[in-house]
Amino acid sequence: MSIKENYKKIQDQLTADVQLVAVSKTHPVSAIQEVYNLGQRVFGENKVQELMEKAPLLPQDIQWHLIGHLQTNKVKYIAPFIDTIQSVDSEKLLAEINKEAGKNNRSIKVLLQVKIAAEDSKFGLEISEAKTIFQQYMDGNFPHVEVTGLMGMATFTDNEPQIRKEFLTLKTLFDELNQLKPLKTLSMGMSDDFPVAIECGANSVRVGSAIFGRRDYSQ
Ligand SMILES: *Cc1c(COP(=O)(O)O)cnc(C)c1O
Repeated sequence: MSIKENYKKIQDQLTADVQLVAVSKTHPVSAIQEVYNLGQRVFGENKVQELMEKAPLLPQDIQWHLIGHLQTNKVKYIAPFIDTIQSVDSEKLLAEINKEAGKNNRSIKVLLQVKIAAEDSKFGLEISEAKTIFQQYMDGNFPHVEVTGLMGMATFTDNEPQIRKEFLTLKTLFDELNQLKPLKTLSMGMSDDFPVAIECGANSVRVGSAIFGRRDYSQ
């Protein structure tokens, strides 16, 4: 199927209240432009260097989301333009984003990335850490960031009950924090599991290969 057909097929599965983040990592600028031309404005990349190479070659009104692990020393490169950093996995990183956002006289939206997968390879905060950081945010410690929600990745498995359980764990935390301060975004679900994520309460999904095709890491 073409990118256009893929994109339409994904859109048909999303209701208007679910945000689609088109994950364009490893794919060329021409493919991103094609999806942009179909009306998509929110794109996700997971590496700072790749994002820095592509962003200047694409329309200025793209809302870029960083979805991969971010080293504190790279925050300064993206702070002038990034829309949302979905992968905040430490207090140190949040403090650095706050500092760089301040320097740029702007506020940066962030999601706290919570570890919900059983595998221990994935980045993310423990639930207790996420609660602590959110409390510090509510106490006014990070005035140049806006914590708009939570992000999580389920275990890479065919075991749907397990995926569902992991997503529901994040939804429970989302509801709990939402009582303290209203949150907008619950980002869960990728190409293989976004329908399950939406059933579990996701209102933002990060879809890459189901739009752009398989990634080729060999180049
Ligand atoms: C690559 C990636 C995605 C998209 O994965 P697909 O399976 O290609 O849809 C979503 N979220 C994160 C954090 C990613 O790194």
